[in-house]
Amino acid sequence: MSRFFSARYANLTPYTPGEQPQNRRYIKLNTNESPFPPSPGVAKAVEAESRKLELYSNPECVKLRAGMAEVYGLDPDQIVMGNGSDEVLNFAFMAFADEEHPLAFADITYGFYPVFAQVNRIPFTEIPLKEDFSLDPADYVGVHKTVVIANPNAPTGLYLPLEDIERIVKRNPDNVVIVDEAYVDFGGESAVTLLDRYENLLVVGTFSKSRSMAGARLGFGFGSKKLIADLNTLRYSTNPYNINRLTDAAGVAALEENGYYMDNCKIIIENRAWTTEQLRALGFCVLDSRTNFVFAESPQIGGKELYLKLKERGILVRHFDKDRLRNFNRITIGTKEQMQTLIETITEITEATKP
Ligand code: PMP
Repeated sequence: MSRFFSARYANLTPYTPGEQPQNRRYIKLNTNESPFPPSPGVAKAVEAESRKLELYSNPECVKLRAGMAEVYGLDPDQIVMGNGSDEVLNFAFMAFADEEHPLAFADITYGFYPVFAQVNRIPFTEIPLKEDFSLDPADYVGVHKTVVIANPNAPTGLYLPLEDIERIVKRNPDNVVIVDEAYVDFGGESAVTLLDRYENLLVVGTFSKSRSMAGARLGFGFGSKKLIADLNTLRYSTNPYNINRLTDAAGVAALEENGYYMDNCKIIIENRAWTTEQLRALGFCVLDSRTNFVFAESPQIGGKELYLKLKERGILVRHFDKDRLRNFNRITIGTKEQMQTLIETITEITEATKP
Protein backbone atom coordinates (compact mmCIF):
# COMPACT_ATOMS: atom_id res chain seq x y z
CA MET A 1 0.00 0.00 0.00
CA SER A 2 1.39 3.43 -0.85
CA ARG A 3 1.30 6.18 1.74
CA PHE A 4 -1.24 7.96 -0.50
CA PHE A 5 -3.90 5.25 -0.37
CA SER A 6 -7.04 6.61 1.27
CA ALA A 7 -7.63 5.42 4.81
CA ARG A 8 -11.23 4.87 3.65
CA TYR A 9 -10.10 1.70 1.89
CA ALA A 10 -7.32 0.57 4.20
CA ASN A 11 -9.29 -2.50 5.37
CA LEU A 12 -10.79 -3.42 2.02
CA THR A 13 -10.38 -7.04 0.97
CA PRO A 14 -10.75 -7.09 -2.82
CA TYR A 15 -12.60 -9.79 -4.72
CA THR A 16 -10.43 -12.66 -5.96
CA PRO A 17 -11.38 -13.56 -9.54
CA GLY A 18 -10.96 -17.16 -10.72
CA GLU A 19 -7.66 -18.00 -12.40
CA GLN A 20 -7.38 -16.88 -16.03
CA PRO A 21 -4.11 -18.61 -16.97
CA GLN A 22 -2.42 -17.42 -20.15
CA ASN A 23 0.56 -19.81 -20.10
CA ARG A 24 -1.00 -23.19 -20.79
CA ARG A 25 -4.17 -24.53 -22.43
CA TYR A 26 -6.46 -25.97 -19.82
CA ILE A 27 -9.90 -27.50 -20.01
CA LYS A 28 -11.26 -24.46 -18.28
CA LEU A 29 -14.06 -25.35 -15.90
CA ASN A 30 -13.34 -22.72 -13.24
CA THR A 31 -15.21 -19.50 -14.03
CA ASN A 32 -18.58 -20.65 -15.39
CA GLU A 33 -17.96 -19.46 -18.93
CA SER A 34 -19.83 -21.03 -21.84
CA PRO A 35 -17.88 -23.65 -23.81
CA PHE A 36 -19.62 -22.39 -26.97
CA PRO A 37 -18.51 -19.34 -29.00
CA PRO A 38 -20.87 -16.42 -29.56
CA SER A 39 -23.34 -16.78 -32.46
CA PRO A 40 -21.97 -16.00 -35.97
CA GLY A 41 -23.72 -12.61 -36.21
CA VAL A 42 -21.78 -11.35 -33.19
CA ALA A 43 -18.34 -11.52 -34.86
CA LYS A 44 -19.72 -9.80 -37.98
CA ALA A 45 -21.36 -7.03 -35.96
CA VAL A 46 -18.20 -6.45 -33.92
CA GLU A 47 -16.05 -6.34 -37.06
CA ALA A 48 -18.30 -3.72 -38.65
CA GLU A 49 -18.50 -1.68 -35.46
CA SER A 50 -14.71 -1.72 -35.05
CA ARG A 51 -14.53 0.77 -37.93
CA LYS A 52 -16.39 3.35 -35.85
CA LEU A 53 -14.26 3.29 -32.73
CA GLU A 54 -13.26 6.93 -33.14
CA LEU A 55 -16.77 7.79 -31.91
CA TYR A 56 -18.10 7.46 -28.37
CA SER A 57 -20.71 4.78 -27.78
CA ASN A 58 -24.42 5.52 -27.35
CA PRO A 59 -24.91 6.11 -23.61
CA GLU A 60 -28.60 5.18 -23.93
CA CYS A 61 -27.90 1.84 -25.70
CA VAL A 62 -31.14 2.51 -27.58
CA LYS A 63 -31.01 -0.45 -29.96
CA LEU A 64 -29.77 -2.87 -27.34
CA ARG A 65 -32.44 -1.91 -24.81
CA ALA A 66 -35.12 -2.16 -27.54
CA GLY A 67 -33.90 -5.71 -28.29
CA MET A 68 -33.91 -6.59 -24.59
CA ALA A 69 -37.41 -5.09 -24.18
CA GLU A 70 -38.67 -7.34 -26.96
CA VAL A 71 -37.05 -10.53 -25.67
CA TYR A 72 -38.13 -9.95 -22.05
CA GLY A 73 -41.52 -8.26 -22.63
CA LEU A 74 -40.58 -5.03 -20.84
CA ASP A 75 -40.58 -1.31 -21.56
CA PRO A 76 -37.07 -0.07 -22.53
CA ASP A 77 -37.27 2.36 -19.58
CA GLN A 78 -37.38 -0.63 -17.23
CA ILE A 79 -33.92 -1.69 -18.42
CA VAL A 80 -30.39 -0.50 -17.60
CA MET A 81 -27.28 -2.03 -19.17
CA GLY A 82 -24.00 -2.47 -17.30
CA ASN A 83 -20.35 -3.34 -17.85
CA GLY A 84 -21.04 -6.88 -16.69
CA SER A 85 -23.73 -7.53 -14.10
CA ASP A 86 -21.03 -6.76 -11.52
CA GLU A 87 -21.37 -3.09 -12.43
CA VAL A 88 -25.18 -3.21 -12.19
CA LEU A 89 -24.88 -4.83 -8.75
CA ASN A 90 -22.45 -2.14 -7.62
CA PHE A 91 -24.81 0.62 -8.86
CA ALA A 92 -27.71 -1.10 -7.08
CA PHE A 93 -25.79 -1.31 -3.80
CA MET A 94 -24.85 2.38 -4.12
CA ALA A 95 -28.40 3.38 -4.96
CA PHE A 96 -30.49 1.27 -2.61
CA ALA A 97 -28.42 0.51 0.48
CA ASP A 98 -26.94 2.66 3.24
CA GLU A 99 -26.84 2.94 7.05
CA GLU A 100 -30.63 3.10 7.12
CA HIS A 101 -31.08 0.30 4.61
CA PRO A 102 -28.31 -2.15 5.47
CA LEU A 103 -27.75 -5.17 3.27
CA ALA A 104 -28.69 -8.78 3.96
CA PHE A 105 -27.41 -11.72 1.95
CA ALA A 106 -26.45 -15.34 2.51
CA ASP A 107 -23.15 -16.30 4.15
CA ILE A 108 -22.42 -18.56 1.19
CA THR A 109 -23.15 -16.74 -2.03
CA TYR A 110 -21.44 -14.63 -4.68
CA GLY A 111 -18.20 -13.33 -3.15
CA PHE A 112 -18.53 -9.88 -4.64
CA TYR A 113 -21.47 -8.85 -2.42
CA PRO A 114 -19.41 -8.21 0.73
CA VAL A 115 -16.78 -6.42 -1.37
CA PHE A 116 -19.29 -4.04 -2.97
CA ALA A 117 -20.78 -3.48 0.49
CA GLN A 118 -17.37 -2.64 1.96
CA VAL A 119 -16.24 -0.38 -0.87
CA ASN A 120 -19.48 1.60 -0.53
CA ARG A 121 -19.32 1.51 3.28
CA ILE A 122 -22.68 -0.19 3.63
CA PRO A 123 -23.30 -2.29 6.76
CA PHE A 124 -24.26 -5.88 5.95
CA THR A 125 -25.54 -9.03 7.62
CA GLU A 126 -24.63 -12.46 6.31
CA ILE A 127 -27.47 -14.88 6.97
CA PRO A 128 -26.28 -18.50 7.30
CA LEU A 129 -27.60 -21.01 4.79
CA LYS A 130 -29.02 -24.19 6.30
CA GLU A 131 -26.83 -27.26 6.86
CA ASP A 132 -27.78 -28.62 3.41
CA PHE A 133 -26.83 -25.23 1.81
CA SER A 134 -30.47 -24.35 1.12
CA LEU A 135 -31.75 -20.85 1.84
CA ASP A 136 -34.65 -20.54 4.27
CA PRO A 137 -36.97 -17.81 2.91
CA ALA A 138 -38.29 -17.24 6.44
CA ASP A 139 -34.89 -15.69 7.30
CA TYR A 140 -35.56 -12.90 4.79
CA VAL A 141 -39.31 -12.33 5.18
CA GLY A 142 -39.74 -9.01 6.98
CA VAL A 143 -36.00 -8.42 7.66
CA HIS A 144 -36.44 -4.78 6.62
CA LYS A 145 -33.06 -4.71 4.92
CA THR A 146 -31.96 -4.39 1.31
CA VAL A 147 -31.93 -8.06 0.37
CA VAL A 148 -29.65 -9.60 -2.25
CA ILE A 149 -30.31 -13.15 -3.39
CA ALA A 150 -28.44 -14.97 -6.13
CA ASN A 151 -31.03 -17.28 -7.64
CA PRO A 152 -29.87 -19.86 -8.50
CA ASN A 153 -27.17 -19.40 -5.91
CA ALA A 154 -23.41 -19.61 -6.47
CA PRO A 155 -21.34 -21.60 -5.71
CA THR A 156 -24.00 -24.07 -4.56
CA GLY A 157 -26.16 -24.05 -7.72
CA LEU A 158 -29.33 -24.39 -5.62
CA TYR A 159 -32.53 -22.69 -6.76
CA LEU A 160 -35.25 -21.01 -4.74
CA PRO A 161 -38.78 -21.32 -6.21
CA LEU A 162 -40.34 -18.12 -7.46
CA GLU A 163 -43.10 -18.15 -4.84
CA ASP A 164 -40.43 -17.87 -2.13
CA ILE A 165 -38.80 -14.93 -3.93
CA GLU A 166 -42.24 -13.30 -4.20
CA ARG A 167 -42.88 -13.75 -0.47
CA ILE A 168 -39.55 -12.05 0.34
CA VAL A 169 -40.25 -9.15 -2.06
CA LYS A 170 -43.78 -8.70 -0.74
CA ARG A 171 -42.76 -8.76 2.92
CA ASN A 172 -39.97 -6.17 2.59
CA PRO A 173 -42.03 -3.41 0.97
CA ASP A 174 -39.80 -0.58 2.17
CA ASN A 175 -36.57 -2.03 0.85
CA VAL A 176 -35.34 -3.08 -2.56
CA VAL A 177 -34.91 -6.81 -3.10
CA ILE A 178 -32.18 -7.54 -5.64
CA VAL A 179 -32.45 -10.91 -7.37
CA ASP A 180 -29.21 -11.80 -9.14
CA GLU A 181 -30.16 -14.16 -11.96
CA ALA A 182 -26.74 -14.70 -13.55
CA TYR A 183 -27.56 -18.42 -14.00
CA VAL A 184 -31.33 -18.39 -14.46
CA ASP A 185 -31.29 -19.54 -18.10
CA PHE A 186 -29.98 -22.96 -17.03
CA GLY A 187 -33.26 -24.09 -15.50
CA GLY A 188 -34.66 -21.42 -13.17
CA GLU A 189 -37.75 -19.27 -13.55
CA SER A 190 -37.04 -15.55 -13.77
CA ALA A 191 -38.57 -13.08 -11.33
CA VAL A 192 -39.07 -10.75 -14.31
CA THR A 193 -42.74 -11.81 -14.32
CA LEU A 194 -43.19 -10.23 -10.87
CA LEU A 195 -41.98 -6.79 -11.94
CA ASP A 196 -45.37 -5.31 -12.76
CA ARG A 197 -46.60 -6.11 -9.24
CA TYR A 198 -43.65 -5.00 -7.08
CA GLU A 199 -41.97 -1.61 -7.28
CA ASN A 200 -39.22 -2.78 -4.89
CA LEU A 201 -37.91 -5.62 -7.08
CA LEU A 202 -34.70 -5.36 -9.09
CA VAL A 203 -33.73 -8.30 -11.30
CA VAL A 204 -30.10 -8.45 -12.45
CA GLY A 205 -28.77 -10.60 -15.29
CA THR A 206 -25.79 -11.11 -17.57
CA PHE A 207 -24.67 -12.06 -21.08
CA SER A 208 -21.57 -13.71 -19.55
CA LYS A 209 -22.94 -17.23 -19.04
CA SER A 210 -25.87 -18.34 -21.20
CA ARG A 211 -24.98 -15.92 -24.01
CA SER A 212 -21.25 -16.77 -24.26
CA MET A 213 -20.07 -13.18 -23.81
CA ALA A 214 -18.08 -13.10 -20.55
CA GLY A 215 -15.22 -11.29 -22.30
CA ALA A 216 -17.48 -8.56 -23.69
CA ARG A 217 -18.72 -7.49 -20.22
CA LEU A 218 -22.46 -7.01 -20.63
CA GLY A 219 -25.03 -7.16 -17.85
CA PHE A 220 -28.46 -5.72 -17.21
CA GLY A 221 -30.93 -4.65 -14.56
CA PHE A 222 -34.73 -4.79 -14.79
CA GLY A 223 -37.04 -2.88 -12.48
CA SER A 224 -39.71 -0.22 -12.24
CA LYS A 225 -38.98 2.89 -14.31
CA LYS A 226 -38.20 4.76 -11.09
CA LEU A 227 -35.65 2.21 -9.86
CA ILE A 228 -34.00 2.23 -13.27
CA ALA A 229 -33.91 6.05 -13.28
CA ASP A 230 -32.07 5.89 -9.93
CA LEU A 231 -29.51 3.47 -11.35
CA ASN A 232 -29.05 5.77 -14.32
CA THR A 233 -28.35 8.68 -11.97
CA LEU A 234 -25.38 6.69 -10.67
CA ARG A 235 -24.36 5.49 -14.11
CA TYR A 236 -24.29 9.06 -15.43
CA SER A 237 -22.34 10.09 -12.34
CA THR A 238 -19.61 7.52 -12.91
CA ASN A 239 -19.38 6.34 -16.52
CA PRO A 240 -22.17 7.10 -19.01
CA TYR A 241 -20.24 5.26 -21.76
CA ASN A 242 -20.08 2.08 -19.69
CA ILE A 243 -21.11 -0.05 -22.67
CA ASN A 244 -18.47 0.29 -25.35
CA ARG A 245 -19.36 0.21 -29.05
CA LEU A 246 -18.11 -3.35 -29.66
CA THR A 247 -20.07 -4.77 -26.73
CA ASP A 248 -23.20 -2.82 -27.65
CA ALA A 249 -23.07 -4.18 -31.22
CA ALA A 250 -22.32 -7.70 -29.95
CA GLY A 251 -25.31 -7.55 -27.61
CA VAL A 252 -27.71 -6.42 -30.34
CA ALA A 253 -26.52 -9.21 -32.65
CA ALA A 254 -26.71 -11.84 -29.88
CA LEU A 255 -30.36 -10.98 -29.16
CA GLU A 256 -31.19 -11.42 -32.86
CA GLU A 257 -29.89 -14.99 -32.57
CA ASN A 258 -31.31 -15.70 -29.13
CA GLY A 259 -32.49 -19.18 -30.17
CA TYR A 260 -28.87 -20.30 -30.64
CA TYR A 261 -28.09 -19.44 -27.01
CA MET A 262 -31.23 -21.03 -25.61
CA ASP A 263 -30.40 -24.24 -27.55
CA ASN A 264 -26.91 -24.18 -26.02
CA CYS A 265 -28.47 -23.92 -22.56
CA LYS A 266 -30.37 -27.15 -23.28
CA ILE A 267 -27.09 -28.88 -24.16
CA ILE A 268 -25.50 -27.62 -20.92
CA ILE A 269 -28.49 -28.87 -18.93
CA GLU A 270 -28.09 -32.34 -20.52
CA ASN A 271 -24.35 -32.35 -19.86
CA ARG A 272 -25.00 -31.27 -16.27
CA ALA A 273 -27.38 -34.20 -15.73
CA TRP A 274 -24.80 -36.60 -17.18
CA THR A 275 -21.93 -35.16 -15.12
CA THR A 276 -24.00 -35.22 -11.91
CA GLU A 277 -24.91 -38.85 -12.49
CA GLN A 278 -21.30 -39.85 -13.21
CA LEU A 279 -19.93 -38.02 -10.17
CA ARG A 280 -22.59 -39.56 -7.93
CA ALA A 281 -21.69 -42.99 -9.31
CA LEU A 282 -18.12 -42.27 -8.18
CA GLY A 283 -19.47 -41.60 -4.68
CA PHE A 284 -19.42 -37.81 -4.83
CA CYS A 285 -22.01 -35.68 -3.06
CA VAL A 286 -23.32 -33.35 -5.79
CA LEU A 287 -25.84 -30.61 -5.00
CA ASP A 288 -28.86 -30.32 -7.33
CA SER A 289 -27.75 -27.60 -9.71
CA ARG A 290 -29.91 -25.28 -11.82
CA THR A 291 -26.81 -23.53 -13.17
CA ASN A 292 -23.97 -24.18 -15.61
CA PHE A 293 -21.82 -25.66 -12.83
CA VAL A 294 -22.01 -28.35 -10.18
CA PHE A 295 -20.79 -28.15 -6.61
CA ALA A 296 -19.34 -31.49 -5.64
CA GLU A 297 -17.57 -33.17 -2.74
CA SER A 298 -15.58 -36.39 -2.88
CA PRO A 299 -15.88 -38.78 0.06
CA GLN A 300 -12.29 -39.83 -0.56
CA ILE A 301 -10.13 -36.86 -1.48
CA GLY A 302 -10.11 -33.29 -0.12
CA GLY A 303 -11.35 -30.43 -2.27
CA LYS A 304 -7.98 -28.71 -2.52
CA GLU A 305 -6.13 -31.92 -3.33
CA LEU A 306 -8.56 -32.79 -6.09
CA TYR A 307 -8.34 -29.24 -7.49
CA LEU A 308 -4.51 -29.45 -7.56
CA LYS A 309 -4.42 -32.95 -9.08
CA LEU A 310 -6.86 -31.89 -11.81
CA LYS A 311 -4.79 -28.78 -12.49
CA GLU A 312 -1.62 -30.88 -12.89
CA ARG A 313 -3.54 -32.88 -15.50
CA GLY A 314 -4.72 -29.81 -17.41
CA ILE A 315 -8.20 -29.32 -15.97
CA LEU A 316 -9.07 -26.19 -14.00
CA VAL A 317 -11.94 -26.15 -11.51
CA ARG A 318 -12.67 -23.66 -8.73
CA HIS A 319 -11.80 -24.36 -5.13
CA PHE A 320 -12.80 -22.02 -2.28
CA ASP A 321 -10.58 -22.18 0.77
CA LYS A 322 -13.41 -21.25 3.13
CA ASP A 323 -15.23 -22.97 5.99
CA ARG A 324 -18.00 -25.31 4.83
CA LEU A 325 -16.79 -25.07 1.21
CA ARG A 326 -13.29 -26.49 1.58
CA ASN A 327 -14.19 -30.08 0.76
CA PHE A 328 -16.02 -29.09 -2.41
CA ASN A 329 -15.10 -27.98 -5.88
CA ARG A 330 -17.21 -25.90 -8.22
CA ILE A 331 -17.02 -27.42 -11.68
CA THR A 332 -18.31 -25.55 -14.74
CA ILE A 333 -20.29 -27.65 -17.20
CA GLY A 334 -18.60 -27.68 -20.60
CA THR A 335 -19.06 -29.76 -23.74
CA LYS A 336 -19.80 -33.49 -23.49
CA GLU A 337 -16.20 -34.25 -24.52
CA GLN A 338 -14.81 -31.99 -21.81
CA MET A 339 -17.06 -33.63 -19.23
CA GLN A 340 -15.99 -37.10 -20.38
CA THR A 341 -12.34 -36.12 -19.97
CA LEU A 342 -13.13 -34.69 -16.53
CA ILE A 343 -14.83 -37.89 -15.37
CA GLU A 344 -12.03 -40.09 -16.77
CA THR A 345 -9.43 -37.93 -15.02
CA ILE A 346 -11.30 -37.91 -11.71
CA THR A 347 -11.69 -41.68 -11.94
CA GLU A 348 -7.91 -42.06 -12.40
CA ILE A 349 -7.17 -39.71 -9.51
CA THR A 350 -9.58 -41.40 -7.11
CA GLU A 351 -8.43 -44.91 -8.12
CA ALA A 352 -4.85 -43.87 -7.34
CA THR A 353 -5.79 -42.53 -3.90
CA LYS A 354 -7.78 -45.63 -2.86
CA PRO A 355 -6.38 -47.13 0.34
N1 PMP B 1 -23.59 -12.82 -10.12
C1 PMP B 1 -23.15 -14.06 -9.89
C2 PMP B 1 -23.92 -14.92 -8.95
C3 PMP B 1 -21.99 -14.52 -10.53
O1 PMP B 1 -21.52 -15.76 -10.26
C4 PMP B 1 -21.30 -13.68 -11.41
C5 PMP B 1 -20.08 -14.17 -12.16
N2 PMP B 1 -18.89 -14.16 -11.51
C6 PMP B 1 -21.79 -12.38 -11.60
C7 PMP B 1 -22.95 -11.99 -10.95
C8 PMP B 1 -21.07 -11.37 -12.45
O2 PMP B 1 -21.04 -11.67 -13.78
P1 PMP B 1 -20.68 -10.61 -14.89
O3 PMP B 1 -20.12 -9.37 -14.23
O4 PMP B 1 -19.72 -11.30 -15.77
O5 PMP B 1 -21.99 -10.28 -15.57
